[in-house]
Amino acid sequence: MKDSRIETICVQAGWEPKKGEARVLPIYQSTTFKYDTSDQMGRLFDLEDSGFFYTRLQNPTNEAVAAKIAALEGGVGAILTASGQAATFFSIFNICEAGDHVVCSSSVYGGTYNLLSVTLKKLGIETTFVDQDDDYETLCRAMRPNTRAVFGESISNPTVRILDFEKFSRLAHEHGVPLIVDNTFATPINCRPIDFGADIVVHSTSKYMDGHAVAVGGAVVDSGNFDWMAHAEKYPGLTQPDDSYHGIVYAEKFGKLAYITKATAQLMRDLGSIPSPNNCFLLNLGLETLHLRMKRHCENAQKVAEYLAGHDKVAWVNFAGLPGSQDYELAKKYMPNGTCGVLSFGLKGGRETSISFMDHLKLVAIVTHVADARTCVLHPASHTHRQLSDEQLIEAGVQPDLIRFSVGIENVEDIIEDLDQALSQV
Ligand SMILES: *Cc1c(COP(=O)(O)O)cnc(C)c1O
Repeated sequence: MKDSRIETICVQAGWEPKKGEARVLPIYQSTTFKYDTSDQMGRLFDLEDSGFFYTRLQNPTNEAVAAKIAALEGGVGAILTASGQAATFFSIFNICEAGDHVVCSSSVYGGTYNLLSVTLKKLGIETTFVDQDDDYETLCRAMRPNTRAVFGESISNPTVRILDFEKFSRLAHEHGVPLIVDNTFATPINCRPIDFGADIVVHSTSKYMDGHAVAVGGAVVDSGNFDWMAHAEKYPGLTQPDDSYHGIVYAEKFGKLAYITKATAQLMRDLGSIPSPNNCFLLNLGLETLHLRMKRHCENAQKVAEYLAGHDKVAWVNFAGLPGSQDYELAKKYMPNGTCGVLSFGLKGGRETSISFMDHLKLVAIVTHVADARTCVLHPASHTHRQLSDEQLIEAGVQPDLIRFSVGIENVEDIIEDLDQALSQV
């Protein structure tokens, strides 16, 4: 399956039934798993054997879906989490502790910004936010001796900026730390960050991967490429004995699987942010059609972006598929088949006009979500980012008039007709 093409991986990877087993991934709705001898169970707790014993750590349904996502991203392993927020937290907390430091693009999801700037800070992990347009030398000045990771989004939410992978992977690797990339919006259909130097990939699977807005979830994928032992003094959690597991050294015992094994055996054991097997089943259904949906999302978004760009009430449109947009070249380089279905724009007249326009939409719904089958719209300054000051909004690249528009997979003519009637009323 590893050598199959991406569409085939979407449909078939992860669950490989043996003779007489269910063709479709079953929902293992069980917290517990049975063993015949005490010794069999004991070996699992020593990490000497792999197997299921309690769903907080592993579950066959979850594991099959994690394996599919790892295959889609070209990674060696993955762990599923109850939400994208948990995935981001795990990806960093797995290699950072109090006293450590992270460098993060300021063009990231509002929840990520809060997690890093407020909650991780309370745990003693500090973050420096950088402007991803800065040149390499300027970015280097944010790196410190205690920096442990560089973080960015392949396509940022909500500003839909494209990450310069070459610049950011160089920044991370020349300073001996991994690059973590949130690939939620691009999905592995349009971009595989590991191919461009990312070491760890995180997802909010709540978006395109699920695709139907039915299950909140997240994933962390490891490329297996980062050499923890070569930077052993920076990553004691992976390179020093884990006393809570009889002195196991993850990087020695598990090699390329060290990072994901630690995330499961230690973080999931202690923090417990697992998705339910039922949600993983739903996620798997979404993944089966991801390649078809992404294609349609991108085609529709391209037409909507072109329509908006040609409308005299529209002040600006940001969509990397539009020639002349600031990230057009980056998108062509890293996402030649398209970016995603999300775009942002502002109306002449600013904030108040934008709000009035949204209230006139009929087919398009105002919801706190993006990236599912149904077209939806959101005003970050009044909704997702309302806790940020105007200064922080600008720093995050969110203009007060910015409308985030998530183009669904309906007939694009209907979407454009709805936009047209709403624009005619403002
Ligand atoms: C939604 C989102 C998250 C958070 O995911 P949840 O599943 O809502 O917790 C993280 N990153 C990006 C880019 C997102 O769009």
